[in-house]
Amino acid sequence: MAVAGGVLRMETPGEGHIVDLTEGVRRIVATTGVDRGLVCVAASGSTVAVTTMEYETGGVHDLQALLDRLIPPGADYEHNRLNHDSNAHAHLRAAVIGPSVTVPLVDGSLALGTWQQIVLIDFDDRPRTRVVTVQIVS
Ligand code: ZN
Repeated sequence: MAVAGGVLRMETPGEGHIVDLTEGVRRIVATTGVDRGLVCVAASGSTVAVTTMEYETGGVHDLQALLDRLIPPGADYEHNRLNHDSNAHAHLRAAVIGPSVTVPLVDGSLALGTWQQIVLIDFDDRPRTRVVTVQIVS
């Protein structure tokens, strides 16, 4: 077993901002020369998530609206009360979606659908610098 990969860093405004990571992941994969394996894309932090979606204006709006309905920012949360914090909704959204995805690498290509992108969603209530680790296990 071998492990190769790299890191993506980005600034985000937070507040549910969605970043398409797909080309950055492809770039890192290409630099390794690996053509078969599992590509793990993992964000560090308890208020950020990684998933896949069709990354287009309507899909981005709908996902953000869904999360606003399911986990509203202004609700009454113990995390905020106990810690004098304001981002409980961000922790909950990140926990529900999860911090990483694993995508098979087949003959040098990520096994994604035509309209499927790998995205980072930053839920924190302030701008953040985010670090995403991309590791290929082959
Ligand atoms: Zn917090």
